[in-house]
Amino acid sequence: MTDAMTRALETKLSLFDTRTRKVASISASNGSHLRIYSCGPTVYRDAHVGNLRTFLLSDLIIKVLKYTGVDARLVQNITDVGHMSEDLHEDKLLAESSARKMDPFEIAREFESRFHHDLQLLGVNPANIYPRASESIEMMQSLISQLIEKGHAYVGTDSSVYFDARSFESYGEISGNRLDALKPGHRYEYTDDGAKRFHADWALWKAAGERTEMIWDSPWGAGFPGWHIECSAMSLHYLDGAVDLHLGGIDLRFPHHENERAQSNAAAGYEVVSNWVHGEHLLFEGRKMSKSAGNVVLVSDIVARGLDPLALRLTFLENRYRSQIDLTWDALAAADSTIKRWRKKLKDWGASDATPEAQIVLSQLVELVLDDLGSADAIVELRRIERDEHLAPSFRAFIFRELDQIFSLDLDRAEESARLTSEQEGLLAARAEARAAKDFAQSDLLRDQLRALGVEVKDSASGQSYEIIL
Ligand code: AMP
Ligand code: ZN
Repeated sequence: MTDAMTRALETKLSLFDTRTRKVASISASNGSHLRIYSCGPTVYRDAHVGNLRTFLLSDLIIKVLKYTGVDARLVQNITDVGHMSEDLHEDKLLAESSARKMDPFEIAREFESRFHHDLQLLGVNPANIYPRASESIEMMQSLISQLIEKGHAYVGTDSSVYFDARSFESYGEISGNRLDALKPGHRYEYTDDGAKRFHADWALWKAAGERTEMIWDSPWGAGFPGWHIECSAMSLHYLDGAVDLHLGGIDLRFPHHENERAQSNAAAGYEVVSNWVHGEHLLFEGRKMSKSAGNVVLVSDIVARGLDPLALRLTFLENRYRSQIDLTWDALAAADSTIKRWRKKLKDWGASDATPEAQIVLSQLVELVLDDLGSADAIVELRRIERDEHLAPSFRAFIFRELDQIFSLDLDRAEESARLTSEQEGLLAARAEARAAKDFAQSDLLRDQLRALGVEVKDSASGQSYEIIL
């Protein structure tokens, strides 16, 4: 619960709040650090580069805050149960499990570790905690019980528990989808209409029915949690009842965040989330990424083409989070060569010199980032500084090195990856995947192939690294 006596800590960051439809100054309500919740991956498949754009949002926010001396605590959930596929009314993980004839939890762990590996390749610092839905069942059940006690939820005729949408007056503030405008039969929720009292009510707990896997006992009978309740339970629990910043992709505005807000506020009795911030979608070569369109791009695809995965990070930084990006392979290749050129130039420029003039320019650039994440504007300036031959090399080195603490493009890296062939890059990516999937036979085989090609692979707790031996 927020303490009314605590003075909030004002940060210099401003962001667009979807609920109030305004750019808002962000503050840490507990007076010490910013509490951030970011909706995490559904781990039945690899995160595609679009998902990663959204996951990068918290990293940029946390790094720019840290640069200004403000700490943050980030919670990101791992959805390994409860997220239904829109078309099939079927749990996405169980569908994958039956297709691959594998234990659903084994699949979840495989994709979870690949998710962490992708984040590492993109220079994203890990969250403080990654709670798994399947391990937070009690927490969700206790929240559901509270909602029933407070008259915001009821047990339906099918033994599922539903949230009573009409009991939450301000429903619709985030998305603009007010209850009176939502038509019955409009498919925005996966539950059948029969057992609930009102068409816009949604399931907090689903009765198991025919389902035999990934179900748990509950006061309402065996079943499994709905997707939205997961984020309410985890954010309230792990962020002590108040979220300064709630992040997710734009598609989550409705129904996911609308329902989460209703659940959290109804249980807590106050506005739990101060700012709802949404990242716009990423398109690839003009189209929405989808399996059926065949244009899903993964980090491993980028590596397999011999491109630095941080090129993806640069393309994200070159666009404001609130604008759609239409990514292309050409744009990625251009970003890759920009990063390589910057690394080389930084080496040539040598040591940094933090002159008072350089500090002024730097703080102007940081302010651009703090202003609703204008990293794109800051990068335009960086390019100008790069080209300005009147500026001392040590001045330019200072600006680039300092901003890299926020942008994480690893600009001081020794340029060895430029010497890798695309075959070597591809094998390294395949080996990282094999390791993440704990396929040690395959990873040993790939290690031998790489050695034969002159690349010695080493493993450590932070992942795989390599050295060129020929
Ligand atoms: P999921 O794993 O499908 O639950 O999605 C994880 C996150 O990625 C959510 O915050 C989504 O809103 C976000 N997301 C999904 N598709 C895209 C996309 N094409 N571009 C940007 N973010 C996306
Ligand atoms: Zn969520």
